[in-house]
This record gives sequence, C-alpha cells and structure tokens, in this order.
Amino acid sequence: NKPIVAIVGRPNVGKSTLFNALAGQMISIVKDTPGVTRDRIYADIDWLNHQFTLIDTGGIEPDSSDIILSQMREQAQIAIDTADVIIFMTDVKQGLIDADAKVADMLRRSRKPVILVVNKVDNYNKMMADVFEFYNLGIGEPIAISAAQRSGLGDMLDKVTEHF
Ligand code: GDP
Ligand code: MG
Repeated sequence: NKPIVAIVGRPNVGKSTLFNALAGQMISIVKDTPGVTRDRIYADIDWLNHQFTLIDTGGIEPDSSDIILSQMREQAQIAIDTADVIIFMTDVKQGLIDADAKVADMLRRSRKPVILVVNKVDNYNKMMADVFEFYNLGIGEPIAISAAQRSGLGDMLDKVTEHF
C-alpha cells in the first residue's frame, strides 16, 4: 500500500533512463531503439522520507504514429487505473507532437495528479524557450529534467510527493 507512481510517455523520451536513475540501478533496458521496454517494470524507491513504487511502462517496437498513439493510450489507461501520481514525460529535443496532446487530454480528464516532465534538457539556459512550449499541453507547469545527467530530479520528486 505504498503510493504508486507511473511514468508514461511516447517511445524514446527517456522513461527507462529516469526509472533507472531513481532506482539507482539498471533495472530497465535503455536503448536507442524506441519501445524496448517489454512490459511494466517495478521498483521500490526511497526518497528523503518518502517511499513509493515506481512503474516504467513500455511497449513493443512501434513502427507508425498510429501504433505509437494507441500504445500511449494503453499505457496512460494502465497508469490512470493503477497509479496515485502519473509522471507524463515528453522530450524537448523532439518537441511537442500530436500524440502528446491527445494523451495529455486523456490524463487531464482522468483527474489523477499528473506531473508534466520535459526530459533531455541537458542545457537549461539554451533550452528554456523550448520547455515553455509544453505549457500548451494544458496540464500545468513543465518540469525540466535531464534523466541522463540526473538534473532536475529533486524538483520533480518534490512535485510528485506533494500528492501522497
Ligand atoms: P524510453 O523509450 O522512453 O524508455 O527511453 P529510454 O530511456 O530508452 O531512452 C531513449 C534514448 O534517449 C536513449 O538513447 C537515452 O540514452 C536517451 N536519453 C534519455 N535521457 C536523456 C537525457 O536526459 N538527455 C539526452 N540527451 N538523452 C537522453
Ligand atoms: Mg523504456
């Protein structure tokens, strides 16, 4: 009965990289090929005085935007059904895509707490304007992180654990 936090987002945004960074070990597979996370993967996370179960979601080798969207919808529905807080991850390098907006609408309607995370912000000063674009999703303030560099994770976890 620990709170459950699920990471959702389209393939290749860095969900598994974030998951591993928080888990402190390489549990989830990170690959340049989108969609290599086969299934749901769980880790128990201890952060400051908070404990929660983190879920990495994935899918299989999507090869068209239709399949990406249907997989994202499926992931998002699993998160809505099982998670207490949802981390919705986007990618500053790829920018906003249509599927992000559709899934954001679905998450907003669910009324679950959603933390909007913009990943791959490896240089915040250079990328700030690109991060602001994500306000257009209408699901709140975008939190800039770099999962690879492990920056911004404390601010993100503050927002997540506010909802426990
Ligand atoms: P997933 O499909 O959403 O699970 O994404 P992965 O975690 O497998 O990462 C996809 C690719 O993005 C990999 O090549 C990662 O190394 C890369 N990546 C993840 N986080 C970052 C980041 O913060 N900055 C940059 N530049 N690349 C990242
Ligand atoms: Mg993955």
